[in-house]
Amino acid sequence: MTAEMVMADASVAQTIAPHGGRLINRLVHGEEADELRRRAADLPSLHLNARQLSDLELIASGALSPLEGFMKRADYDSVVEEMHLVGGLPWTIPITLAAGDGDIPEENTDIALYDAHGTLRGIMAVQEVYPYDKRREAREVYRTEEAAHPGVSAVYAQGDMLLGGPVTVLPAADHGPYHLPPAAARAAFAARGWRTVVGFQTRNPVHRAHEYIQKCALEIVDGLLLHPLMGETKSDDIPADVRLRCYEVLLANYYPQDRVILGVLPAAMRYAGPREAIFHALMRKNHGCTHFIIGRDHAGVGTYYGTYEAQKLFDQFAPDALGITPLRFENSFYCRRCAGMASDKTCPHGPEDRVALSGTAVRAMLRAGELPPPEFSRPEVARVLVEALHGAD
Ligand SMILES: [Zn+2]
Repeated sequence: MTAEMVMADASVAQTIAPHGGRLINRLVHGEEADELRRRAADLPSLHLNARQLSDLELIASGALSPLEGFMKRADYDSVVEEMHLVGGLPWTIPITLAAGDGDIPEENTDIALYDAHGTLRGIMAVQEVYPYDKRREAREVYRTEEAAHPGVSAVYAQGDMLLGGPVTVLPAADHGPYHLPPAAARAAFAARGWRTVVGFQTRNPVHRAHEYIQKCALEIVDGLLLHPLMGETKSDDIPADVRLRCYEVLLANYYPQDRVILGVLPAAMRYAGPREAIFHALMRKNHGCTHFIIGRDHAGVGTYYGTYEAQKLFDQFAPDALGITPLRFENSFYCRRCAGMASDKTCPHGPEDRVALSGTAVRAMLRAGELPPPEFSRPEVARVLVEALHGAD
């Protein structure tokens, strides 16, 4: 690199390097894609479910950098037991491709990967085929062996052998106008001149409490990436199209347009709580976020994890090793005496002054056609939710 290039680079706003230093790109286009299609015709095939497919797309786009494929045994064991890849980088969630009887290829063969509709999605060089202990994975990653946990149940339901090796992938399915792969997110941040960006993970509509947290974070950084997860979630979560409409009306009415970007992340929820919080942060680092918001019971489900357990797990990693900075937030609410949004950290008043509604109570109101109070939910957002949920079971 010449001195001139270094200076040119320095003048471009940059946020943070991808995890491992290099943004992985396993997508092929044009003639390479045609060649992949020709080769795939002669290969053994494997059909991927929704979760496996979303992992494949995330690997291909670099969202899971430095992974170039599904984990081989050494990385898998190290991630399950030690929360690190073999090379020493923090990594908390196994990214694996399981296969069952009848679908298990030989080691050192290529296989063609198809979606559930029989559309070719890519090719995998299967370098390793290995058995694994599902209960150990459940215990270490999900902190429970109970099949009632949706993430554990998915592990128990999958095939008994894991396939490890790099993938080569055809361009992703259409995820709509808000799909923002890591390279595009980084370009968007650079175009706005942002040097610091906070990522916000959600799979729910954004209510006042979340808006408050996002805006507190935005006070100390250049931009906000509102990054809802649009892969497979629990069936009782709000449908993706409804959530998107909620984000659109919220951003249009209450956020400065030059300080926020809405992008969807086609990732599946695993509900692994603390470990998934780290994983969520690393995916946002790969998208170029320098900061990441960790709220209460991040990525949790039921009562499997303590309220602040996810926040605490960040303390087990050296800040340099993670790279992205966690911003820990407490439960927030509207306080009538403070006459504003607040949290236990900033408000001295009691429950009688605070507008607090449980998720269950809010869902019941929406189904009954009632708008939650404006201190809880922006009326524009509440109206979208009532239209979608009124009368629904
Ligand atoms: Zn107060």
